[in-house]
Amino acid sequence: MKAAVFHGPRDIRFEDVPKPELNDGEALMRIRACGICGSDLHTYREGLFPQLGLEIAQGRILGHEYSGEIVEIRGELPSIRLGGRYTTVSMGGNAEFLRITPFIASRMIPIPDDISFEEAATTEPLATSLHAVNLADPRDDQTLVIMGAGIIGLGILQAIKARCRARTIVVDLSARRLALAGQLGADLTLDASREDAVARLRKLHGTTDLSLLDSSESAIDTVFDCAGATAHYKGTTVLEQALGLVRQNGKVVVVAVFERKVEVDLNVVVRKGVQLLGSWAWTPPEFVQAMELIRSRKLDRKPLITHRFALEQASLAYETQMQANEAIKVVLTP
Ligand SMILES: [Zn+2]
Repeated sequence: MKAAVFHGPRDIRFEDVPKPELNDGEALMRIRACGICGSDLHTYREGLFPQLGLEIAQGRILGHEYSGEIVEIRGELPSIRLGGRYTTVSMGGNAEFLRITPFIASRMIPIPDDISFEEAATTEPLATSLHAVNLADPRDDQTLVIMGAGIIGLGILQAIKARCRARTIVVDLSARRLALAGQLGADLTLDASREDAVARLRKLHGTTDLSLLDSSESAIDTVFDCAGATAHYKGTTVLEQALGLVRQNGKVVVVAVFERKVEVDLNVVVRKGVQLLGSWAWTPPEFVQAMELIRSRKLDRKPLITHRFALEQASLAYETQMQANEAIKVVLTP
């Protein structure tokens, strides 16, 4: 079968690899769509991420945000229907076929008839966004700031809008991403490449300084860090900005991946009583809930799919996903 195989940083090759052999109680999925995830991209750019438990041996097939149809079942696999359309999560989606073990099958969810394979392949990143929003637990009267408008940040915006009427502010460096955030219902978008977004937010919503002598208590209840820090970035991190912006006893939800260690003044966390929450992946019920949000049309994932590539163009697809200005979600269609 054909597959896009990871050989090392910036080296993904379209190759012939053996088609998976099935054991009894396993199924074969014909992959129809597979999104390139931020975590795939970190691996693509920098190589392994052992500290996150994302160790990818060279020669591995990336891609875990996939959907497809079951074309073969060996023996008994009661939860799965031959010909059925499903989405789930495991590695190896950048290929024509994928072996579905009983464990993977136990976490598969059927794709409703009127939902495309591409939309279904965005269920996993939406579940990641949903998990972050569930940690923030927003209410109607709150103000939430989303720093970074990639697929996760925009999904956070969608999940907030689907749930309550909180005021949402999205900050990014890309005009295209911010335009999309506006289209998806953000109350305010700030282009940090054109203005000092932190200064503007302080002006709009007040600040809670470390001394707490400042009477203008910040009105920002939660900041989502969907930007993290790349290996080579040297300036003030979004995390530092977020800790400075949030109100006393507010929440900072960190949902980004950090390619290096960053320095923060923990006195800000302590003195302001900030609830600093790490958000990693999702729970199985959140995965189901994400698909339900798509099925019920409470949100629309289609505008987030900006590029499609055949599997033979995998290398170009990864390079395109690296273009943060242009690409939100790049989908491979094996
Ligand atoms: Zn992912």
